[in-house]
Amino acid sequence: MTLDNPPLEPLAAEELATLITAVQSSGLRVDVPIGARSGGAGPADAGMLYIEGVQTTVPTTASYVESSPYSLRSEDDGGWAVYEGDRRLASAALAPRPAYYDLRTEDGIPYWQIALLHLDSVASTVLQTCAYWGNDDQCAFCGIGTTLANGRTIAKKTPAMLAEVAVAARDLDGAVDATLTTGSTATPDRGALYVGRCGEAVKAAAGLPVQVQFEPPSDLDVIDQVADMGIDSVGIHIESFDPRVLARVAPGKARWGVEAYFTAWERAVAAFGPGQVSTYVILGMGEEEAVTVEGCKRAIDLGVYPFVVPLRPVPGSLMQDLLPPPKEAVEAVYRQIVPYLARKGMSASGVAAGCARCQACSGLGAFEKADGGMQDGHRSLPLVFSA
Ligand code: SF4
Repeated sequence: MTLDNPPLEPLAAEELATLITAVQSSGLRVDVPIGARSGGAGPADAGMLYIEGVQTTVPTTASYVESSPYSLRSEDDGGWAVYEGDRRLASAALAPRPAYYDLRTEDGIPYWQIALLHLDSVASTVLQTCAYWGNDDQCAFCGIGTTLANGRTIAKKTPAMLAEVAVAARDLDGAVDATLTTGSTATPDRGALYVGRCGEAVKAAAGLPVQVQFEPPSDLDVIDQVADMGIDSVGIHIESFDPRVLARVAPGKARWGVEAYFTAWERAVAAFGPGQVSTYVILGMGEEEAVTVEGCKRAIDLGVYPFVVPLRPVPGSLMQDLLPPPKEAVEAVYRQIVPYLARKGMSASGVAAGCARCQACSGLGAFEKADGGMQDGHRSLPLVFSA
């Protein structure tokens, strides 16, 4: 901290939410290696850091990041800050390299090939293969096969492996929950039972709250079976409420139809409780804003938390050459969803485990905090209802 570099006044909650949204759309130029995910399921190409203490993942390696106005710079006091041009905007801190990454299983498998630490969540794709990968049904936004192809993970993690790693992640690096996803299998349960068993083993060994993520099983009794395994939260991801977009970007998932997701969610809310069921809603794939917002509100009415995220074009995915959506488009959706969540008494702070608890890949949680709706009941975020 020098005279010409006075300490930063912390940003107001809404300014911080707006900044996180902007950086997640433009990317963050970094000239130091920061903890990152380069491929895999979910929003990969994700540099992991804390902006004003809020855990956040941001694009750091994609080519479009080079033209981002935002950069991460070191400070004289050894800290970090986010800059826009030469204007210092916010303090930042890097996610430390997890200590458990130095450990291996008895068979010599590095723990980081079994599960990564997403800031404070131990996360894994338990089956790194998918019935849709590599054929016409492949989801265009997904990179599940890329990390396997480049040797950054193993194809199948066993419940015992995941339990072992979760205990280490908890004890050595303070993991507070586990987020387990899976490629879809060509079986009626779509992989839900296997990821459920993995979550059960993690919970039994590490006592961490667990979220598992899977596609709607054709037999909905499977959802109750997963709940009976002691799993806390589930993610059943529709990806887009716009059926035209879903058919184009996720033909395999689209075959179920949007209504099948609402039917599966209804069953899941009955089994796990309102707010413990969530869905990814990816913005920036050509969807209609009004269709997205209406879909999110209908999901919220059912007790499902819509985890709205900007598209993060994953290297090696069919969408690798696209750009994330502009911050204005993302913010416009957040500003319509957040007051509705507050009105329905739902919030990220009520989610037991997983992405909707973690919030790092979205700015929704930061806007919730800015809204304050969940704290003291009145809203501060200006309500924006598009006509
Ligand atoms: S929201 Fe958190 S747990 Fe989910 S993919 Fe992003 S960093 Fe990982």
